[in-house]
Amino acid sequence: QRQAYEALKDLPAETLDGHRVHVMANMAVPEEAEALAVSGVEGIGLFRSEFLFMDRSTLPDEEEQFQAYKRVAVAFGEKPVIIRTLDVGGDKHLPALALDHEENPFLGFRAIRISLARPELFRVQLRALLRASAFGRLLIMFPMISHLEQLRDAKSILEQAKTELREEGITFDEKIAIGMMMEIPGACLGADAFAKEVQFFSIGTNDLVQYTLAVDRMNANIADLYSYYHPAVLHLISHVIEASHRAGIWTGLCGEMAGDPLATELLLGMGLDEFSGAASVMPKVKERIRRTTLEQAKRTADHALTLATVEDVVSFLNNKAE
Ligand code: PEP
Ligand code: MG
Repeated sequence: QRQAYEALKDLPAETLDGHRVHVMANMAVPEEAEALAVSGVEGIGLFRSEFLFMDRSTLPDEEEQFQAYKRVAVAFGEKPVIIRTLDVGGDKHLPALALDHEENPFLGFRAIRISLARPELFRVQLRALLRASAFGRLLIMFPMISHLEQLRDAKSILEQAKTELREEGITFDEKIAIGMMMEIPGACLGADAFAKEVQFFSIGTNDLVQYTLAVDRMNANIADLYSYYHPAVLHLISHVIEASHRAGIWTGLCGEMAGDPLATELLLGMGLDEFSGAASVMPKVKERIRRTTLEQAKRTADHALTLATVEDVVSFLNNKAE
């Protein structure tokens, strides 16, 4: 098994009929970078920057963040690394920010909402990211965007940070790509408008399922209701991908679904351009991609999108996989 994966390492994530997609990995701590960079992944589809901020009582300053992002950028060299700006709140606590207790933390003050409310903190992170972009190929991604104004505000703070750095004579990647997580149903439905203002989307199914089905992703009592194979979730994913292609941009997926080989052909057939999950499961996903054709995958996706229940979708995919 391991040898089979080893052989796959340097082969492209390409279907039998030559459709090329990208298989990347998710990452949480910069210390993983060097090992991941040589593991066969094509880059980092999601670097959860919040892990630099958690389990400590003070916030990392610009220099500390810069060193962490730079380490990842250098380790990956030419390969792309998507760094997501701070996504705390909800299930992710951050002692240094002393956030209020909330009745509904997943619907509350989290992620980009915090960054926009505390621009002095956001600015530090963006400056550090921009500075690190001079050392590799970084992309910046904003989490939990629901309103177009949030995206515009985030981009304008980023532009201010760029202006500052230029004035200070500090180099950064002037063409750095900006993207957003698609993890709120309202944003997914409005994907056409968002697509005009970013260079890429990354679908976050972990949250998208929770918000589409009103099922807390952490609550074991209702875990049986939580599934990314729910038809409503599939339709949102398909809509986001199509909207991105209409606008000439690309879409990745960085929730757990990206690492589930049962979902690979379905996502491929919907037109997904990039898969990013735990590095350990991604060889299986690449293997699935290399074993099918885009034509076949499209038929699978078209049929799956006609089904009405999670069970129908799962049994259809299971039957195909046999
Ligand atoms: C997601 O929501 O699917 C995602 C990738 O982000 P996180 O799990 O960090 O919320
Ligand atoms: Mg999320």
